[in-house]
Amino acid sequence: EMRLRFAPSPTGPIHVGNAHTMLFNWLMARSQGATFVLRFEDTDRERSRPEWEEVILSEMKWLGLDWDEGPDIGGPYAPYRQMGRLDLYREYFERLKAAGAVYPCYCTPEELAAERAEADRRKVPYKYSRRCLRLTDEERRRLEAEGRRPAWRLKVPDGEVVAYEDLIRGRIEFPTDSIGDPILVRSSGIPVYNFTVVVDDITMRITDVVRGEGHISNTPVQVLIYRALGVEPPRFAHVSHLLNAERGKISKRKGEMSVTEFRERGILAPALFNYLALLGWTPEGEGREILSREEIIREFDIRKVSKAAAVFDETKLEWMNGVYIRRMSPEELAEHALPFVTGAGLASEEDLRRRWPWFVHLISQLQERINTLAEVPGYVDFFFRDEIEYDDKAVRKFLSPPPADFFRQVAGALETVEWTVPAIEAAVRGLQAASGLEVKAALQPIRAAVTGRTVSPPLFDTIYLLGRERALARLRRWLA
Ligand code: GLU
Repeated sequence: EMRLRFAPSPTGPIHVGNAHTMLFNWLMARSQGATFVLRFEDTDRERSRPEWEEVILSEMKWLGLDWDEGPDIGGPYAPYRQMGRLDLYREYFERLKAAGAVYPCYCTPEELAAERAEADRRKVPYKYSRRCLRLTDEERRRLEAEGRRPAWRLKVPDGEVVAYEDLIRGRIEFPTDSIGDPILVRSSGIPVYNFTVVVDDITMRITDVVRGEGHISNTPVQVLIYRALGVEPPRFAHVSHLLNAERGKISKRKGEMSVTEFRERGILAPALFNYLALLGWTPEGEGREILSREEIIREFDIRKVSKAAAVFDETKLEWMNGVYIRRMSPEELAEHALPFVTGAGLASEEDLRRRWPWFVHLISQLQERINTLAEVPGYVDFFFRDEIEYDDKAVRKFLSPPPADFFRQVAGALETVEWTVPAIEAAVRGLQAASGLEVKAALQPIRAAVTGRTVSPPLFDTIYLLGRERALARLRRWLA
């Protein structure tokens, strides 16, 4: 049985970089018919928060990434939070001790800082001096008697090479001499990531580990722990980090570039899914960019993922989101736009539901114009307000002065015309033709008067959607 896991730390929102790794992890699982496990790495007590767990679960669901076992749904290898697994870590730690693979280290933070400073001064990479490996039993007893509590370090073998086959990067080798003996259990008794992750992956029977490239240097330590425990390590695949459009690191400031932020900016989940899937993975066939979930799952192959860093280009994502917006039915788009309209304080949900066909018609006017849902309120606010602001440009170009005679005639016609788009159009065009005004010279001032702007959705739909009273009031405002 193939089993994969995603193991986020609930210490913040899901950054797009994490979302990308998570997606590749999930895609490998789903494309292989594997079991996908969600596990929270919550041993960082200072920074882990239940609220972040909630955010991670809900944003994964929003993106359409599901899991077969996890903290919320349980499973055969529960619990799926590290803080509930401390007994297991203790048990495996005893095994390492029994195998003579670890030794106690009594060095204080100050002593270690001094070693580190010395390495810095000599400009050599820091590696633990192994001072405590050479302690005699007598010296240990003395340190214990002083009240020192030891941390436990893995004894890394000398003069060997740890190698593993990365599914994305090929063979990766680390000479053991470059690895300082890592701490596995702190003096506080809290086990560290490199150790807990191995215990979890063994006890949850994980066969394939897909994670960010930041963990490449942790892998040899983990492989050595597997070796000391006499367990075959899983396969590893390290996904490259994403770069921003300037080919730099993507901002990691809290909340920025998070899945939540993109959702709030009006990016649709299937568009983000599609866009992230193509960062580092390319489907067969020329120029295929818009792919359904099913196509991506069917064709995805972790071995074809590039190790070159991909660029996360927000403009491209917004373009792709526009493609998804245009493919929706007007109903669907209205459903997605609704929270943005209510969120901007333009109307209540109840109000919009009460006049749903009107709202669908309104939103359908934007379908060709917007790339994100966050653009919606800016296009439609004047439909919801009695008082509107007039742009300087609209006033200057079309209303200084307004074509008063023509406006008077149009207002007269709008008072009685049947309130449909074709009837409004026929009436206004008839008056324009009779007035001797050019089409633009007649219609642009109307647009400026009823919307306050020089550009808007199609004019006759706009008048219709404004409703008779509002349209008339705005025209008459320029007749005083
Ligand atoms: N909590 C780690 C992370 O978020 C998990 C690393 C791993 O998958 O081994 O990077």
